[in-house]
Amino acid sequence: MDKGETRERGEMASQSPEPTRIMMAVNESSIKGYPHASISSRTAFEWTVAKLVRSNAAGFRLLFLHVQVPDEDAFEDMDSIYASPEDFHNMNEKDRIRGLHLLEYFVKRCHQYEIPCEAWIKKGDPKELICSEVKRVQPDLLVVGSRGLGPFKRVFVGTVSEFCAKHAECPVITIKRKPADAPPDPVDD
Ligand code: AMP
Repeated sequence: MDKGETRERGEMASQSPEPTRIMMAVNESSIKGYPHASISSRTAFEWTVAKLVRSNAAGFRLLFLHVQVPDEDAFEDMDSIYASPEDFHNMNEKDRIRGLHLLEYFVKRCHQYEIPCEAWIKKGDPKELICSEVKRVQPDLLVVGSRGLGPFKRVFVGTVSEFCAKHAECPVITIKRKPADAPPDPVDD
């Protein structure tokens, strides 16, 4: 590398003091009795820290987005009677608390690595909301996990990562779950 090139690189570095803002879409595990982040979300987070952030924590800002969908499981609880608006308020509250625990997990992990971060929750259709939040927040990059479903399951179950890769208005990295980590039903995560 000659002197001119070294100077050019130095100038480029000093011109970009802003951290790289990475939006990470994260969801809860669908495995019963496993109240944690999904396997694919955790895999995507660990990959981002190990391969992108590395030792440059101050050069990045991780933006965690969780989208809550109406909890179908709540209706499996046959002991509960939903008779008044307050009952539904309590159910929403339960959902909200679960979402907060999920974000707390990732925020705590970031603090361990000293990576600056933010986290927030939206309600609605995850794939649509992730894309509209990308438009609003304008991150440098979106990272999503993926269950790596085959073509048949992709059609019937749907995939969030594929939709985001197609429609999000920023570069997207999709991190596939390791086959060894896949639960017995690959639709679960
Ligand atoms: P896929 O297996 O293609 O459906 O993608 C799974 C990935 O989509 C997860 O690892 C998350 O990155 C993202 N994702 C799925 N559901 C949500 C959600 N409710 N909120 C935020 N991100 C989500």
